[in-house]
Amino acid sequence: MGMGVIYICKKCKREKEILYGVGFFDFGYQDNNFKKLIEKGREEQLQNMNQLQKFLKLENVSLKDNYKHDAYICTKCKNIHNKFRYTLIAKNKIFTPKYKCNYCGGELRTKKEHENFTITCDWCGSIKFEKESTLMMWD
Ligand SMILES: [Zn+2]
Ligand SMILES: [Zn+2]
Repeated sequence: MGMGVIYICKKCKREKEILYGVGFFDFGYQDNNFKKLIEKGREEQLQNMNQLQKFLKLENVSLKDNYKHDAYICTKCKNIHNKFRYTLIAKNKIFTPKYKCNYCGGELRTKKEHENFTITCDWCGSIKFEKESTLMMWD
């Protein structure tokens, strides 16, 4: 089961949630459901989609079981993003997803535990958020 942290925009009161872990609907990935990975990649604007499609044509591709939703940070503007993190293996090659920031185009990398970050409201553009202290289970 996954966990989520909810942030609320101080200006327009809309929520932004960052999900961590694996939800019920993600269990299909365990059967190496690669079609689902491509769909997910489109949804999350995967940058190395061509590379992923090529990789999936290799022999004996398998998904490491440490896949999960995770928080990513933009290396340029420090905005937080929620993306799917995983590793594919085929013989001695690996594939990991690469994502870009939809605010500034900067590269994303996984967020360190206590790292500071910015949240930008997708509705009103405000960067003032309040953290809802409760963690929730999702799915
Ligand atoms: Zn807002
Ligand atoms: Zn950015």
